[in-house]
Parts: sequence; structure tokens; C-alpha cells
Amino acid sequence: MKTVSSISLAGGQGKTTVVLFLARLLASQGHTVLLIDADPQSSLTTFLGFQVESDSPTLLEVLKKQVATEDGIYKTRYENLFLIPSDDALDNVQDYLAGSGTGAFTLKRRLTPIAKLFDYCIIDAPPQRSQICLTVIGASNALMIPIETSVKGLQSLIRTLELIAEMKDDQEAFDGEILGVIPFRDRWVGLRRTTESESNIDSMKQISTEWLGSDLVLPSIRESEKFKQAINKGLTLHEMGQGDLAYPVEVIAEKIKKLEVKPL
Ligand code: ATP
Ligand code: MG
Repeated sequence: MKTVSSISLAGGQGKTTVVLFLARLLASQGHTVLLIDADPQSSLTTFLGFQVESDSPTLLEVLKKQVATEDGIYKTRYENLFLIPSDDALDNVQDYLAGSGTGAFTLKRRLTPIAKLFDYCIIDAPPQRSQICLTVIGASNALMIPIETSVKGLQSLIRTLELIAEMKDDQEAFDGEILGVIPFRDRWVGLRRTTESESNIDSMKQISTEWLGSDLVLPSIRESEKFKQAINKGLTLHEMGQGDLAYPVEVIAEKIKKLEVKPL
């Protein structure tokens, strides 16, 4: 199983959107995909139209080891697509992770027993620099960083790269790859990118070159109501007749397929 997470330390950066469309694409190609909703806001769980029953196990119980990991995994309405859901109670896991001393490795350990069951595990992270975020990064073979083409987005990019660098250097809690920065809500008017988007994407290239030694900015996700409509209708972009908009997600999917991971 290859585990890839969507990380960006601000709200509304496109984390959940990327996770959802990427997972739907991989699943539609016949790969088995486990999704993990690691955000107490539980947008991913909602986007999938999944209803958590009040006494059913979620990521909270899986992380606390109150249930076997398998018991927190549910089928979704989509073929090949499985989910460990969350609800707002997931916030209660922060103290548990902080208290354990090795919280950054907790999720990785919980995923080991089910790693043979899935081709891919795609994780949606919360927007805060929290214990949950650390354990998500610690469980990942690779990270994708969606960043809104705005000043808030650039701040999120710097905060996110700082955190990843800390986890690499200080704690050796992450030794995976950074797949790239995905500009989100890239605005175009007709055939031209707006000057604001243009300048923000240039800044993303500069920042990623400074931090990572190379320009890892991937094809952008265009600003478009079609994404929201697809999410609301539970459709893929192809099913909406908007295959062109899916290109950035297809590029990420191909990168993930080529990713080499050490067997557990
Ligand atoms: P949070 O940090 O709150 O979890 P997030 O980083 O997961 O946010 P998303 O929820 O993926 O961000 O996206 C933010 C909002 O942008 C959502 O309401 C989503 O419907 C909307 N959205 C998704 N794709 C697009 C798009 N291409 N253009 C404009 N809006 C979009
Ligand atoms: Mg989200």
C-alpha cells in the first residue's frame, strides 16, 4: 500500500478536494483505495455522503487502539473505495497522541496490519499544525501540498514546508517524498491567467525552489464552480463532462503510481 497525504496548514486550500477526486480516479481505474478522514471537520466523510452512526468506530477509536484498524474501515457507495471516517470527536485524540511520546508514528503503526488489503491509502489532513497532522505526515510515503493562489496560500505553503522540514530533520518522523505543490483556484479570464494568479504561482515556484531545491509546482486546479457541483452530486469530473478540469488530478495519480516505497 502506498500512503499519500494532502497537507496544507490553512483552511480552504483544496486538501479535501484533491483527496476526493484523486481517490475517485484511482478507484475508477480499478485500484483499491482506502481513504482516511483525519480532519475533525469531517468534510471528506460528508463529501462521500457517508453517515457515521453514533456508536460506530471512526478514526478516533482506531488511533486509540480501542478497535482493530479493520473495524474502522467502511465500504463507500463507490466501487473500490473504502473509508475510515471521522467526526468532531476526533479532536479528543490530540491529548492521547501528545501523551504517547511517539504520536508521530501512531497512525503508521495502525495501518501496518491492513497494508496488504489496499493499493493506495489517501489521507485528508486537518488545516492546523496539530498532533493529528503530525501523525498523518508520519504515516505517509509521500505528500501533496495544495495551495490556494492567494497570499493566504503562500503563507500556508511556507508553514507547511517548515513543518515537513522539522519532521524530517528533528524527529526523523518523515522520510518520504514531496510529490509537489498544487496551485488551487487558479483564476483565468478567457485564455489568460489573471495577473494575481500568475504572480502567486511564480511565488510558489520560488518558495518551493528555496525550500526543496527544485520547482515542484504541478499543474493547477482551475477556479471553477464545476468542482463544487461535482462534489454535491457525487460525480467525477469526467462524469460531469469536465474531463479537462481533471488533468491536474491525473498528473498526481500518475506520480503516485510511479512512487517507489519500501515494503513494510
Ligand atoms: P479545510 O482546511 O477547511 O479542510 P480544504 O483545504 O480541505 O479546507 P476544500 O474543502 O477542498 O479545502 O476546498 C475549499 C472549498 O473550495 C470547498 O468549499 C470546495 O467546494 C471549493 N472548491 C473546490 N474546488 C474548487 C475549484 N476548483 N474552484 C473553486 N472552489 C472550489
Ligand atoms: Mg478539508
